[in-house]
Amino acid sequence: MSNSKQTTTCQDEYDPNSLDVIEARKRIKQMLTTATETENIAIREALDRTLAEDVLSSINVPAYTNSAMDGYAIAGDDIENIKLFSLVGTALAGKPYNNSVKSGECIRIMTGAPICKGVDTVIMQEHVEVNADQISLLGTHKVGQNVREKGEDLAQGSPAIFAGRRLTPSDIGLLASLGISKVNVIRKIRVTILSTGDELKNVGEVLGEGQIYDSNRYTIYCMLHRIGVDITDLGIIKDNPEDIRTAFEHASKNADVIITSGGVSVGDADFVKQTLEELGTVNFWKIAMKPGRPLAVGQIKNAYFFGLPGNPVSAMVTFYQFIQPAIREIMGQTHFENPSIQLKCISKLKKRPGRIEFQRATIITSETGEKVVKTTGNQGSHVLSSMSEANCFIILPMESGNVEVNSLVEVQPFDGLL
Ligand code: AMP
Ligand code: MG
Repeated sequence: MSNSKQTTTCQDEYDPNSLDVIEARKRIKQMLTTATETENIAIREALDRTLAEDVLSSINVPAYTNSAMDGYAIAGDDIENIKLFSLVGTALAGKPYNNSVKSGECIRIMTGAPICKGVDTVIMQEHVEVNADQISLLGTHKVGQNVREKGEDLAQGSPAIFAGRRLTPSDIGLLASLGISKVNVIRKIRVTILSTGDELKNVGEVLGEGQIYDSNRYTIYCMLHRIGVDITDLGIIKDNPEDIRTAFEHASKNADVIITSGGVSVGDADFVKQTLEELGTVNFWKIAMKPGRPLAVGQIKNAYFFGLPGNPVSAMVTFYQFIQPAIREIMGQTHFENPSIQLKCISKLKKRPGRIEFQRATIITSETGEKVVKTTGNQGSHVLSSMSEANCFIILPMESGNVEVNSLVEVQPFDGLL
């Protein structure tokens, strides 16, 4: 990356009315309130939903001390003193050995079987020599080894999962391991989407002169689907103030969030921001970023409004960087962040100071086995194929200029949403 501190003189890149990304995120966060209504649902249905209250463990996990291995249970004190152990019984998972074991004795024990009175140590079956009903130990052993203590995973009364958590498959398993069948989660968020543009056609229709297929409603729908919201799709709205107003009024009655694409620039047919201003409030509408400078953020009645840019890559990038965190915030998912790492970039990158850039790239393994990042090439905001090829963004800060080969760059791997 260029080290010389460059001033933001390029007129095309620098716009004094644009917010920087951090300020824009802050303004969005301040505007939002989290949904508080909850519902009580079966744990399998709760995957990807937000846990509404802390879940405390009502039991010890494991509920009883048990063996972590298939082998033989003995008293730890016998390790040094006893050469031959007599086999007096067997403990299986679900079939405990009910007597107590005396010094010099052992029981056959399987993984998950309860540890009985008199023993505290399990010797793996690979580490014993068996002679009829006597065993001797091979190698060295520690007192208490291969035993899972009662409550070692979760002690009774301790918090198992905290409110605000987006529930993962392991969380659902954890709830099941506590015997919990239903949980309280935040209600589903309702999102209404629409595209604006006289040039747009639905898939399946025949394209006329100067027309293109509407792809934004597909990328946006799919990303929303992965976040896990209820989606209403109002289709394609023509570029005229009346149709746009009618659609926005309709959407604001039923939705928590309205997401549009197109019509937010300053072109002759860009009525989105103007209509937002008429029906509600505009919080801001320009961010110093590339792709995706125009992003109209505001509110109409009780619905939050996000007017994404029309270019397909700009729409996806702004969604990923701003709308995804915003929706998760409304869903009550605390501490959400798109993680990033530093990697060596093996491509030369073009960049002019003035805006933060999210360049499409792929993380690959170099010949020496090192993870490095490589550009997908053409960064035009209409080039959806390079979005599809990419598996990460390279984030180049506002003041950065061109990036030389082998510079360290900030890389944000796609997290399964894109
Ligand atoms: P706009 O923001 O309306 O000026 O649109 C910018 C560019 O994105 C134009 O080339 C549009 O044709 C294109 N575009 C707008 N909406 C969509 C959409 N839903 N799907 C694909 N391309 C779009
Ligand atoms: Mg348009």
